[in-house]
Amino acid sequence: MSYKAEYIWVDGQQPTAKLRSKGKVVADGEEPPIWGFDGSSTNQAPGENSDCVLNPVFVCPDPIRGDNNKLVMCEVLLTDMTPHPSNKRAACAASAAKYAEMDMWFGIEQEYTYFDGIKPLGWPDNGFPAPQGGYYCGVGSDEVFGRPIVEAHLDACMAAGLKIAGINGEVMPGQWEFQIGPIGAPDVADQLWVARWLLYRIGEEFNVSATLDPKPVRGDWNGAGAHTNFSTELMRNDYDACVAAAVALGTRAELHIANYGDRIEERLTGEHETCSYKEFRYGVSDRGASVRIPWQVARDQKGYIEDRRPNANCDPYLVTQLILDTVCGAVVAAQ
Ligand code: ADP
Ligand code: MN
Ligand code: MN
Ligand code: MN
Repeated sequence: MSYKAEYIWVDGQQPTAKLRSKGKVVADGEEPPIWGFDGSSTNQAPGENSDCVLNPVFVCPDPIRGDNNKLVMCEVLLTDMTPHPSNKRAACAASAAKYAEMDMWFGIEQEYTYFDGIKPLGWPDNGFPAPQGGYYCGVGSDEVFGRPIVEAHLDACMAAGLKIAGINGEVMPGQWEFQIGPIGAPDVADQLWVARWLLYRIGEEFNVSATLDPKPVRGDWNGAGAHTNFSTELMRNDYDACVAAAVALGTRAELHIANYGDRIEERLTGEHETCSYKEFRYGVSDRGASVRIPWQVARDQKGYIEDRRPNANCDPYLVTQLILDTVCGAVVAAQ
């Protein structure tokens, strides 16, 4: 017997990369091997030199096909086995290795929106639903749209063995969130990309599309983010280290904003539980800050902090790499 391996990778689309996948039949007892694809169809190579390499980095059970079939998250290499320019994982893995002794963990809250055709799921054909206020963590068919799809996605993530931490309905109707973590980088990003693939794949079964658009509806409606919670071992034991991490993020705010997802200025307006992309500030329990220190962390005098700036459409390899470099780099510089 053989099994089916669905190879998943991040393409070269600009300004926001998207997921691609294709299936390979692998003999039982064999690990998914290195494979390839036509980079000229994914913005990753010119037609006359089109071969790109798929290098497996994270393999898990395939909850869609079941049995002993697998999902195979890959990084893209050039044919000389060096990282492809679109490969943001290699640099992330290098930063994680460089600062391995600080043992940074990440928990990423992925917000997203279901669309039914051209409107968010559950929205009326003409006009708008009732204003925001009752939808966040709501219950009842007048407030909740897409629950069966969300449940199917949660079940799939659990069956795949992903470290999914939870789900919740969001502030805008049709908008939802799941969280991956806490785990280290680049693993958290590998798993988040697989969870995103499952989000789209399960949407196919329901004829509903999920989008990571950071501002799917203009006006007085919340955007979609990817709040990134993190802690070093020191932060997990020491409050001053949590504050120092927030201060360090403030020293490179522009660089982070520039790499936290396309159209971030549409979402980080200073309204809708955000801080303007032009400002940086941190605070305890402050959902209007760039970086929030959870109240339990202030009470316990140890824990983690939340970078609220990343967009839903961010690349988690880039986001975690930057946080590693900025926060761990500042610790090293102070030594
Ligand atoms: P919010 O109140 O912002 O909606 P969530 O419960 O959605 O918070 O997400 C918090 C995230 O923080 C979870 O994914 C969780 O795994 C993560 N987390 C908890 N403790 C830590 C830690 N010590 N280091 C990194 N991430 C953590
Ligand atoms: Mn959350
Ligand atoms: Mn949220
Ligand atoms: Mn949050």
